[in-house]
Amino acid sequence: MTLPEISFEFFPPRDLEASFRLWDTVQVLAPLAPRFVSVTYGAGGTTRDLTRDAVATLHKHSGLTVAAHLTCVNATRDETLAIAQGFAEAGVRDIVALRGDPPKGETGFTQYPGGFADSCELIAALKDAGPFTIRVGAYPEAHPEAADAQADVDWLKRKIDAGASEALTQFFFDPETFFRFRDRCEKAGIDAPIVPGILPIENWKGVRRFAERCGTSVPAALDEAFAAAERDDRQDLLATAICTELCSDLLDGGVDKLHFYTMNRPELTRDVCHALGVTPKASLENVA
Ligand code: FAD
Repeated sequence: MTLPEISFEFFPPRDLEASFRLWDTVQVLAPLAPRFVSVTYGAGGTTRDLTRDAVATLHKHSGLTVAAHLTCVNATRDETLAIAQGFAEAGVRDIVALRGDPPKGETGFTQYPGGFADSCELIAALKDAGPFTIRVGAYPEAHPEAADAQADVDWLKRKIDAGASEALTQFFFDPETFFRFRDRCEKAGIDAPIVPGILPIENWKGVRRFAERCGTSVPAALDEAFAAAERDDRQDLLATAICTELCSDLLDGGVDKLHFYTMNRPELTRDVCHALGVTPKASLENVA
């Protein structure tokens, strides 16, 4: 079996302890030779400086290709492009370009005065600004704000046509959800890679709440399974098994790239990668 190419998402640390946790996470996952690692941009642009610093530090010290998330929220076009320019000057050419979520407490996206109206405008401006590799978000179960599933795919096509070369999806639990989405994308003429976003379940209750906010369907069996696993203190085992099965089904269905939402906790992601055959040894052999 061909091994999947993998990538990892991190969030920027807010304090010293979190910085050590991120660095530990990088140390554990770097030997798996990810294609790239990405660093999120807090909702409402709240982590702008933290993202910039984490991206620059990871780029300088980890030896990995680093992608910076960038959103349209709470900044003018010039300010947003200046941030992208800063990434480029630090040697970072990979950007995950997003419209972004509003700050906590606000419900919908509102265009900032002088800011980008939507993700397509941001993507087009980045394309003009320099030699960036631009990735975008995609939503197998449609974004909660989409008129319908087809409108969502049409919008994704516009993002790719505006200059993006790859899409990373929202997380989901059922491989069929991804396959149906991939079919819709193909039918719409999208030929850029669509990479499944994988969320290893560190904390079922937290993931469940998050899934509700994102519009991700939750199979009923998972509630029962995690309740039983909690009683036996075997949540990690269950989480590893569920995530490995999902990834394995995706690979069987022709997927060759996986993007893991690590939440800056490396163990589950590492264990799933190992179960899929992505180990430090295999990664070295792939390079040789
Ligand atoms: P878009 O795809 O541009 O829009 C979302 C949906 O709204 C579209 O699918 C489309 O259906 C509809 N839509 C929007 N504008 C239009 C329009 N003009 N015309 C028609 N339809 C439209 N958020 C952060 O704040 N920071 C992050 O670092 C971050 N990282 C993420 C990484 C990934 C891989 C993903 C999938 C999401 C991430 N998010 C992040 C969340 C993201 O910002 C939210 O989901 C946000 O609400 C949508 O951003 P987007 O760029 O995907 O939006």
